[in-house]
Amino acid sequence: MKTKLTLLALISTLTFAHEGVERGPNGGRILEFSKNETMHGEVLVKGDKFHIALLDKDKKPVAMAEQTLTATTGVREAPQKLAVEKDAKGFVVPVVKSGEWLILQFKNEPKAKAVTARFEYNTAICEGCQAQEWICKCEPEK
Ligand SMILES: [Zn+2]
Repeated sequence: MKTKLTLLALISTLTFAHEGVERGPNGGRILEFSKNETMHGEVLVKGDKFHIALLDKDKKPVAMAEQTLTATTGVREAPQKLAVEKDAKGFVVPVVKSGEWLILQFKNEPKAKAVTARFEYNTAICEGCQAQEWICKCEPEK
């Protein structure tokens, strides 16, 4: 049994972090806003808002220009649109209830095809890392 546990520990250290929750330079959750890793959103909660900062392929801040975002939550039968504000770093969206999904549709410019990113806002505390599940720092389980 002990041998098996050691082996599992070894496997988990070899696992790439991007298979679990990817965390950004400010400790937020990274979302993919492109098809080729050239645009990301880093989601942080400040007060009762999600702050979604835009980051480039090197996770460096992106200047805000023509980018747009729509945000939705709720169930498929009754989706609920959320108000999206822009700030200097990205977008600001009201926090959803714990356990609900945040669905984001990002456009780099008005004519671009929207890229959809989503995650479950699970605020339960992870036993492994003591962070909330939506920004869990643990390696993914195999
Ligand atoms: Zn964890």
